[in-house]
Amino acid sequence: MPKSYPLIGLVAYDKVIRHNPDVVVMGVLSPYVKAIIDAGGSPILLPDSLPSEQATALLDRLDGIVFTGGGDIHPRQYGQEIMHTSVDRIDEVRDRFEIDLIREVLENDLPMLGICRGHQVLNVALGGTLWQDIGTQIPDSLEHHYFRDGFQWDYLPHDIMIDASSRLAQLLGTTHTMVNSLHHQAVRDLADGLQVTAWSEDEVIEAMEMPSQRFAVSVQWHPECIVDNVPAMRGLFRGLIEAV
Ligand code: MN
Repeated sequence: MPKSYPLIGLVAYDKVIRHNPDVVVMGVLSPYVKAIIDAGGSPILLPDSLPSEQATALLDRLDGIVFTGGGDIHPRQYGQEIMHTSVDRIDEVRDRFEIDLIREVLENDLPMLGICRGHQVLNVALGGTLWQDIGTQIPDSLEHHYFRDGFQWDYLPHDIMIDASSRLAQLLGTTHTMVNSLHHQAVRDLADGLQVTAWSEDEVIEAMEMPSQRFAVSVQWHPECIVDNVPAMRGLFRGLIEAV
């Protein structure tokens, strides 16, 4: 029997090339692809332009899925107006695609990992809300927004505390770790069915999971970018592959 490699969907999205706005690339950042391959899975790109019927058909053939990072979800998806000028990189086609897809993924109990935007999509798809801008809405919060010109993906500005009884603690093998922080929004009101599993010291929600699912874990940081400086992060991708 040849070795089998679980097929892991990665939600892919449009990216405009800086030097020519007419050229658009559909893809994901390469660290996601590498992290899945290193964990023993085969990455499959799932374009957010896929017609919903086709996305549903494709789900049947996938073993697991990663909801990737990206721009902000339009606040209308959680019943709010845009309240901050910092709300940025909105893509409502992607919002709709991912919200529908994540509901379907959960219905089918397909193993899923949500990263950054993907973590926020999980909460919004189930009826939760977001802080639109941590810096202005949460007094005395830490700086979480290191997504800026010349930033380093693997810079570790703050630590998190992890619930010892969570799957996340088991996957990472620790209840305390440093993380990168490339977000200016965060989960605010938690949706039903979700459990918070990690916080930064300013009580910003940094991870969640859904105990009723085979594997539904989400994190606010970017584990795929820090597998070299925080090797425990590989546990998240291994966990996803092992759950399939
Ligand atoms: Mn953070």
